[in-house]
Amino acid sequence: MTTTQSENGKPSDPNYLATRSRSVPRRLILGPGPSSASPRVLRAMSQPIIGYLDPAYFEILADVQSMLAKVFITEQTTMAVAGAGSAGMEAGLSSLLEHGDKAIICVNGFFCERQILMCERLGVEVVRVDAPYGKTVDPQLLEDALKANPDTKLVSAIHAETSAGVLQDIGILSGLAHDHGALFMTDVVTSLAGTPFEFDAWEIDYAYGGSQKCFAAPPGISPVAISDRGLEHIRNRKTLPSSWYLDLNLIADYWGPNHVHHHTSPVSMIYGLREALVLVHEEGLETRWMRHEKVAQALRAGLEALHLDSPVSPEHRLNQLTVVSLPEGLDDGELRSALLNEYSIEVGRGLGQFAGKVIRVGLMGESCVPANVFALLSALERILPRLGYEVPRGEAVAAASQTLAEDPSPVAVI
Ligand SMILES: *Cc1c(COP(=O)(O)O)cnc(C)c1O
Repeated sequence: MTTTQSENGKPSDPNYLATRSRSVPRRLILGPGPSSASPRVLRAMSQPIIGYLDPAYFEILADVQSMLAKVFITEQTTMAVAGAGSAGMEAGLSSLLEHGDKAIICVNGFFCERQILMCERLGVEVVRVDAPYGKTVDPQLLEDALKANPDTKLVSAIHAETSAGVLQDIGILSGLAHDHGALFMTDVVTSLAGTPFEFDAWEIDYAYGGSQKCFAAPPGISPVAISDRGLEHIRNRKTLPSSWYLDLNLIADYWGPNHVHHHTSPVSMIYGLREALVLVHEEGLETRWMRHEKVAQALRAGLEALHLDSPVSPEHRLNQLTVVSLPEGLDDGELRSALLNEYSIEVGRGLGQFAGKVIRVGLMGESCVPANVFALLSALERILPRLGYEVPRGEAVAAASQTLAEDPSPVAVI
């Protein structure tokens, strides 16, 4: 049984004092992140705390690095930044860019705008290359911007834009950046361990992920990879990075062979990330990519049976996050509340240009299984007619199931 708010009193009461432990409700989380954490990851996190300079801990760090190298597909430096995915984002921008530098930011969603906000705080001059939500950035526009701004130090583009449900060809953009002498960084928070990504082959200089999306671990740690060229660039900066905590050079020195003391490593999160990586390797990276693809296909087939479309062009659709256009007049808040209150299912709302027009369904990591697709489709079949939008009954789950049944290879059941 879950403990309800009332057992602890109401937080709005001026005399409120929480004195008892509290349980959280069980949810089916199918939003843009976090996703469900694997019980094995949670168990690993409950191991005893050891010191961050304990040789036994260094072995754990080495395990994490070697497994991360397989996930990023790199022979260069991997490590994890203590903090949410945004910490990985800020570590990259603040370490690779100096006050007064120029950066080109490719913009096709909300998280690209966050990168710009960070650059502004760093005193970095930003050149935007825009694409509408639901589309990828036109490489020609990036090339034009690079020609017009030969002093560009860094180009950034997001591999999987979760706000827009779009997957982008990062290799092309990275190649253009290097042709013009700029470094290239990318955001793989939603794609890493769920969609093909190759750090070395695509010549990325810095990529940051998140623990809470396809890794099936709790939020709070950001696995990153940095190229030798990127590290060299930081070491040769004229000024030190503005953030001491997020200085990738200092973080790399702690993760490196000398384990130079920096800040206290979040040991429990590292245990969790280690177990999450074991899970990825047990399943197989490619099988995991395939699972994300097949389960997303099943969801799309079900949504089609409900006559629900997506504003994202089919060729750019991201498996981990499906953007669903809502029929005219359907209130997105009402739909999301009904899913949460009656079915304990969380889905995401629209952000930026999509606000109020869509819901966003995440299928990531542990949450990415056929049973969750069936549960959501079945709930939609019941809720939508009540909200005034008639849908065929009994067809959505069947369509999703048929998509899976037609595929001869098994979808790993986790
Ligand atoms: C979720 C997400 C982030 C932010 O991650 P936090 O852990 O919330 O800081 C950044 N970029 C993308 C593409 C994301 O999906």
